[in-house]
Amino acid sequence: MLPEGKPTNMDALIRDYNHISQRLNTLKWDYIHSEILGRVNDYPIYSLRLAHHHGQHLKILLSAGTHGDEPAGTEAVLRFLQRDNTHLLQNFDFLVVPCINPYGYVHNQRENASGIDINRSFEHDQLVEVAIIKRLLKNQRFDLFIEFHEDWEFDGFYLFEVQRYGQSLANQIVTNVATVCPIYHGTAIDEMPVSNGIVQVDTKEAEQMSGAAMPLYVFKYHCDHIITCETPSQLDFGQRVEAHLVALDTVLAHYR
Ligand SMILES: [Zn+2]
Repeated sequence: MLPEGKPTNMDALIRDYNHISQRLNTLKWDYIHSEILGRVNDYPIYSLRLAHHHGQHLKILLSAGTHGDEPAGTEAVLRFLQRDNTHLLQNFDFLVVPCINPYGYVHNQRENASGIDINRSFEHDQLVEVAIIKRLLKNQRFDLFIEFHEDWEFDGFYLFEVQRYGQSLANQIVTNVATVCPIYHGTAIDEMPVSNGIVQVDTKEAEQMSGAAMPLYVFKYHCDHIITCETPSQLDFGQRVEAHLVALDTVLAHYR
């Protein structure tokens, strides 16, 4: 176990964006098509498509690293990309953005280089990061958007879910994540009621909320079902990474 709150070799490795580029550039799966969407402060923002081009597939959008100080999400996405997902491509197409805020990631800060929270900026196109993501998503619909965040304020995993129709996946996710990570058992987060680590966002309210946060923007224009996973950043890094992967695998298992 790593000492908490102290810089460690693991922290140094986590903050190394070259290491991320290296891992993405050496993925061995021929079903992955990667692209550099643009550069921010010289750091490339990557997207990766995982697809076999035949048949009807569910389209999954997966992202992490919107907040730079939430590294377990990006690590979980990288591990997902590195493993063999061949069997999943009979059912799914994936569009993946492992790290939306490379500058924040390298500097261990929530905001981008200008000190602006990307996840509060989707109502306009002034931030390069936002413009890049909007360009990527343009004219596309997804069946599900799952994104990975972290929260230093709480001691357990929780999630937000909002959907227009279909079955909620929140309970299944929390049940499975509980086997690898504690669940947040408080009753409120940002003044929203939480039950068993689940914030169920009302569909109508979500539609009326501003689209400044990326999940709400995606809900408004690109997708009917959104899940935002939040791991407790005070816990062990490996455990948080595992929690995100379990959440993702729960969703995929449900649809298969
Ligand atoms: Zn976050």
